[in-house]
Amino acid sequence: MTSGNQTWLQRSAHSVWHPCSQMKHHEALPLVPVKRGEGVWLEDFDGKRYLDGVSSWWVNLFGHNHPQIKTAIIEQLHQLEHVILAGFTHEPVIQLSERLSSLTGLGHSFYASDGASATEIALKMSFHYWRNHGQDAKNRFLSLQNGYHGETLGSLSVTDVALFKETYASLLRESVQLPSPDWRLAGPGEDARQYALRCAEQAGNYIAQHHDSIAALIVEPLVQCATGMAMYHPIYLQRLREICDRYEVHLIADEIAVGFGRTGTMFACEQANIRPDFICLSKGITGGYLPLSVVQTTDEVYAAFYDDNITRGFLHSHSYTGNALACSAALATLDIFAQQDVLNSNRRKAAYLNQQLAAWDDLPISQLRNTGMIWAFDVVDSQPGFQQRFYQAALQRGLLLRPMGNTVYFMPPYIITESEIDFMLEQTVAVLKDSI
Ligand SMILES: *Cc1c(COP(=O)(O)O)cnc(C)c1O
Repeated sequence: MTSGNQTWLQRSAHSVWHPCSQMKHHEALPLVPVKRGEGVWLEDFDGKRYLDGVSSWWVNLFGHNHPQIKTAIIEQLHQLEHVILAGFTHEPVIQLSERLSSLTGLGHSFYASDGASATEIALKMSFHYWRNHGQDAKNRFLSLQNGYHGETLGSLSVTDVALFKETYASLLRESVQLPSPDWRLAGPGEDARQYALRCAEQAGNYIAQHHDSIAALIVEPLVQCATGMAMYHPIYLQRLREICDRYEVHLIADEIAVGFGRTGTMFACEQANIRPDFICLSKGITGGYLPLSVVQTTDEVYAAFYDDNITRGFLHSHSYTGNALACSAALATLDIFAQQDVLNSNRRKAAYLNQQLAAWDDLPISQLRNTGMIWAFDVVDSQPGFQQRFYQAALQRGLLLRPMGNTVYFMPPYIITESEIDFMLEQTVAVLKDSI
């Protein structure tokens, strides 16, 4: 790195408080200054390139510097950048709501700018729905062990990551976590489906006893991403749908990470053939270009708020709700899905990647798993500090991967080519074979 870069980095570490980081660690671990992006590649100021194997925290679906998304934003910029969405409306937000509802079957879209806010909105709406129906006692939320739904106080209450949660425990609302259907937790002789059914039964038992006080159950469909890419059988979601219907509990599908093709279908819930009462979307929704999130819900929920009385309405708001530029990026992203047969092309890429992985042997790994365009494995006997060492060793080899504990995962942009897949896998093997 040049000395010019060095000062730049020092300035960043002094003035920018980076997310999900102990800033003191950056005394030893330099920040990576990114000058530009192109396709799956990020480039620093010295011209060194890094393959973005995590889609810039799971948001970038079609690569950096995508001409179609860029053009859509520029065109929108000439028309209208943003307008207050209370009392006003605009073409991109209407179009996006209509197109999303034709994809999810949920007709009413409420917007925010990030995933955690979408979680907050779904929780508040669910509670308020029951309240509008005279069932104020339904004021608790259920989520799953090892679930992640964001880190604002409300969303952290339903998140189950000790590292993020324990410090703030006294600020959080109590919530209950049901057993995770993660198939790695199956008992001896039990397959993924049987284990999912066993977890669903436990969920059913809990809900049967406590439904009078429960507003909603929030889950990440098919893959619990933030806690190590835990994957599970879709039968679990089918059973939850039945249980929630039987006991009048809302089912919230947090598809913030898994939505928009990541699990192989446009939305993960499709693989269980269920429709949730609320779906939370964000991350990939704009192709990774601009912050946007949305909560979609049913006619029935919407109707419960529709009244002459203002306090029966949903008064929640964010300044940038329904931002026109972000909506135009989302529309361009949906256009790419519609025009380019993305899901089929992803299927072929996934088959290619799996074929390469099948040739892996003699590596200290276990539980190799794949759902759609997500791959993960756990490193056996990893030593303390593995996560940091792997991250740095991969970066040196031009590959951006961020292990979670001893889990290494790939979540590349969908435009990754076969030779880029080869590069990603070769560098990963090389790092695993170095003594880390
Ligand atoms: C990332 C994520 C969130 C939070 O989204 P932010 O935009 O980071 O607030 C919520 N739920 C899931 C499943 C996520 O992966």
